[in-house]
Amino acid sequence: MEKILFLEGQFSEKIWGGSRLKSEYSYQIPSDRTGEYWAISGMEGESSTIIEGEFEGKSLREVYENNRELFGNSKEKEFPLLVKIIDAADDLSIQVHPDDGMAKRLENSKGKTECWYILNEKPASIIFGLKVETKEEALKLIDERKWAELLKEVPTKKGDFFFVRAGTVHAIKKDSLILEIQQASDITYRLYDYDRKDASGKFRDLHLEKSKEAIKITKEEGQIQKQSREGYEERILTANEYFEVREFKIKNNARFKREKPYLLESVIEGAGEIEIDGKTSPIKKGDFFLITNGAKNYKIRGKLTIIEANSVED
Ligand code: ZN
Repeated sequence: MEKILFLEGQFSEKIWGGSRLKSEYSYQIPSDRTGEYWAISGMEGESSTIIEGEFEGKSLREVYENNRELFGNSKEKEFPLLVKIIDAADDLSIQVHPDDGMAKRLENSKGKTECWYILNEKPASIIFGLKVETKEEALKLIDERKWAELLKEVPTKKGDFFFVRAGTVHAIKKDSLILEIQQASDITYRLYDYDRKDASGKFRDLHLEKSKEAIKITKEEGQIQKQSREGYEERILTANEYFEVREFKIKNNARFKREKPYLLESVIEGAGEIEIDGKTSPIKKGDFFLITNGAKNYKIRGKLTIIEANSVED
């Protein structure tokens, strides 16, 4: 059974996109308005491709569909998570995602709970939640268009982590570079777009009524837990009902035992190699791969920072 699947993702151009996916990650981007790299995706039409081994050239979507043993015979119909890098050269709109119930009812989709690991070296900021205590106050301020009174802006720096539960009003702001791990869903309701017009002089579509319905007053959840291990430092960033995310800062030599059915790995800093059951592959910043159910133990050598995620199923 294949033990590791190296992936290549797809780029998405956006009006707010930039060029740091090339300058900082050395990817061949389609233009200087590249906003997103969908690094680990099994979504229809937007799936990552496996770039070596038995499944070379096949999409992750197809391999997930036909080789479920690699994923510990996961019962999730579709590949459940999505990992992206987002380069915002400009502010993204203020938005909110529906939870599973609302998404099922209105969009026949899953909801979208996501999380952000901040990659920008220079300080930036995000909109993360609301300044008010109740939904009624939130709806009143929205109707009065008192955005500054409503939206909570938070400064960000590299290594910060935010858990964005469905229903949380949020926006990625200019200069942010973010690793996003989320439920595999693409349902976004745009609440406010700074009254910006597009190239043809039109306002971008808003989804005001759905946004208002989707909004929840969420509280910050979960404490990051740090642990010193042999050869690396670990931070457990989130462990929620959809996914778990951990940061490994590897100093030179670290050993791991695969305990989850399969793992999603994002190399965000440094270079080195991974050895799985005797087979070694080089890895470096910007590489994304899956460790499958076929792997038992793995070692990582080098000086690297890796963000590891796994799906949580009922
Ligand atoms: Zn979002």
